[in-house]
Amino acid sequence: MDLILMGLPGAGKGTQAERIANAYGIPHISTGDMFRAAIKEKTGLGRKAKLYMDAGDLVPDEVTIGIVRERLHQDDCQKGFLLDGFPRTVDQAKALEAILTTANRKLDCVLYIDVDQAQLLKRLSGRRICSGCGATYHVLFNPPKTEDICDQCGAKLYQREDDRQETVKNRLEVNQKQLQPLLDFYRTRGSLYTVDGNRSIEAVFADIDNRLSVTPSTSINSSQLT
Ligand code: ADP
Ligand code: AMP
Repeated sequence: MDLILMGLPGAGKGTQAERIANAYGIPHISTGDMFRAAIKEKTGLGRKAKLYMDAGDLVPDEVTIGIVRERLHQDDCQKGFLLDGFPRTVDQAKALEAILTTANRKLDCVLYIDVDQAQLLKRLSGRRICSGCGATYHVLFNPPKTEDICDQCGAKLYQREDDRQETVKNRLEVNQKQLQPLLDFYRTRGSLYTVDGNRSIEAVFADIDNRLSVTPSTSINSSQLT
C-alpha cells in the first residue's frame, strides 16, 4: 500500500505510523526523523535542516523532495510505504505525484488526523522521545512505566528542542498555513480520509485500520519507483 499520514504537529502521526507500519508490513518514512538522524550524524543535510527546524520553519522543498525521492527508490518501498510528515506543501505533493506516476503507481489513501488546537498544544508540550530507539511517549497520555525511561530499550527519554514553547507557536502557524491547500489537493483526487484524532490512541488506530482493511492496494503489481 502507498499511504500518506497527514496532520498538524502533535496530531499523532508518528504514534499511528508505528502501528500502521507493523500491521501492514510497510516502511514508515518520517522526514522529521530523517532530518533528526542527519543532525545527530552531523552531515551537511543535518546542518542545513537544523537552521529551519530550530526556528519551527519548513526545510526548503528542493532539499526535502530530494531525500524522499532517494528513500522511495530503496528496495523496501517497492511493496509500499507510509509517509509521515511529507508532503507538507503542494509543491511537495506534486513532486510525489510525479514520482509515483512514472512508476505507474498512485496513492491508495491519504489519512488526515484532525485534532483541535488546544489538544495539539497539550500533546506537544508533554511529548518525550527515546534517545535510543526513537519511540514516542507522553508524560500524561502515554507515559513510560518508569519515569523518563523507555519501556522498549531502557534508554533515557528527552524533549525535542522544537517542542519547547517558543518554537511550537511558529511551527503550528507555519504548518496550518500549508494544510488547507494540501487537503484540497488530495480531496480533488478522491484519496483523502479524515480521522477524528481527538480520541484515544487505540480508537484512532481502530478507525484507520477499518478504513485500510477495505482499501484496495494498487502497489502490488506496479513497477519499481524510479
Ligand atoms: P506527530 O508525529 O503528529 O507530531 P506524535 O505521534 O509524536 O505526533 O504525538 C504527539 C504526542 O501526543 C506524543 O507525546 C504522543 O504520545 C501523544 N499522542 C499521540 N496520539 C495521541 C492520542 N490519540 N491521545 C493522546 N495523546 C496522543
Ligand atoms: P516532524 O518530526 O514531522 O514534526 O518535523 C520536524 C521538523 O522537520 C519540521 O518542523 C520541519 O522543520 C522539518 N520537516 C519535516 N518534514 C518536512 C517537510 N515535509 N517539509 C519541510 N520541512 C519538514
